[in-house]
Amino acid sequence: MPQPIPQREFALQVLSQLREAGYEALWAGGCVRDQLLGREPQDYDVATSARPEQVQDLFGKRRTLAIGAAFGVIAVLGRHKQPPIEVATFRSDGAYVDGRRPEEVVYTTAEEDAQRRDFTINGLFYNPIDEQVIDYVDGQTDLQKGVIRAIGNPRDRFSEDKLRMLRAVRFATTLKFQIEEQTFDAIRSMASEVKIVSAERIGAELRRMLTHPQRRLGIQLLQDSGLLLPLLPELADWPKQQPTAWQQLLTRLERLQSESLAAALATMLFELEQNKIVGQIGRRFRFTNNEIDRATWLVQALSCLEKADQMPWPQLQRLLVHQGAEELVALAAATWGDDHPCVQECRRRLALPAEELNPEPLLSGKDLIAHSITPSPQFGRLLEHIRDEQLLGNITTPQQALKQADHWLQDNKPQNES
Ligand code: ATP
Ligand code: MG
Repeated sequence: MPQPIPQREFALQVLSQLREAGYEALWAGGCVRDQLLGREPQDYDVATSARPEQVQDLFGKRRTLAIGAAFGVIAVLGRHKQPPIEVATFRSDGAYVDGRRPEEVVYTTAEEDAQRRDFTINGLFYNPIDEQVIDYVDGQTDLQKGVIRAIGNPRDRFSEDKLRMLRAVRFATTLKFQIEEQTFDAIRSMASEVKIVSAERIGAELRRMLTHPQRRLGIQLLQDSGLLLPLLPELADWPKQQPTAWQQLLTRLERLQSESLAAALATMLFELEQNKIVGQIGRRFRFTNNEIDRATWLVQALSCLEKADQMPWPQLQRLLVHQGAEELVALAAATWGDDHPCVQECRRRLALPAEELNPEPLLSGKDLIAHSITPSPQFGRLLEHIRDEQLLGNITTPQQALKQADHWLQDNKPQNES
């Protein structure tokens, strides 16, 4: 099967085709920033003077998708499962009525398009053909200094779209940049208004922050900026009321070696006493059911793991053959330290060959039925018992397992039968 071309090359083709047709076209925003920082951009966005209909005419209806029609954004589809390139017509945003999105957009010039973007480091354009950076907002200086600065008046910009406050914290976290003073003051005075933004958009920014290795900085910035209270009120009084627990939480986040959102949530929240809190917070930000279930499992499993070095092997093994085992050990190491005996024991066991760590069960429910054992509420417990005996090495063949099943049933007859 033909391989997709690198995304950079696809973005260059799209840009060249627009230019050859006589339109102005530039790479814009995050991809320019990342490239100047020497990082691989996550995605490439093209900004152009061509109107959305013109973009669709040029690339053909079959190769385009009007994904953000109201904002003039057309996706140009790649071949062979290539991710699309988003092509957006230069625009300036009309009045923001609800603190989230503009009421209308007006198609305009590159210079005005730069002004509607959030931060100077995100307001840059680049022409890859002559390798020129086009900078209307002095973004290159801030990029060199490591500064997140709102374009224009920060209060006005945050009033337009309150998510930008959280984006400032996310970029400061992932890039290890400082938020410029007036920009930060504006966040501090408007933080409570972030709640107006949709849960999905907030959740997406939090996910980016919490899965990043610098997540400790992110949580600290949420606290310093006042965003912690509206977003995670459960933790908001910790810094003052329980400073030691707060410091420990930050240390855990710093030590956590995992890219999993579930592991980060569990690391932050496992000390909160209410047992449903992880689920509540996960649902608040529309994290996926899998992420919420995994985080909930991690919190429960961590409390079982505390005595791993003294635990019967089958009990520990059940935790270590779970799909979340790697995240669990990362959480344990972040919580108790890498050299804690439980963590070491888990790591030693996880390194065992697969057939030893997680051997095929000797028996299934079907085998029991074939052996004339009638299905009953006891079935599950019986299978667990057989599995434990197998993991302990007491039985090694299906025949021995069936014999063991008979013994167990004899010993565990319901009361009224005996
Ligand atoms: P990344 O893709 O690494 O998260 P990015 O800067 O590319 O970072 P996107 O959300 O992909 O972020 O947005 C692309 C560009 O669109 C940004 O660089 C910025 O110029 C502009 N932008 C995105 N969201 C906003 C917003 N809420 N307000 C103003 N401009 C925005
Ligand atoms: Mg992007």
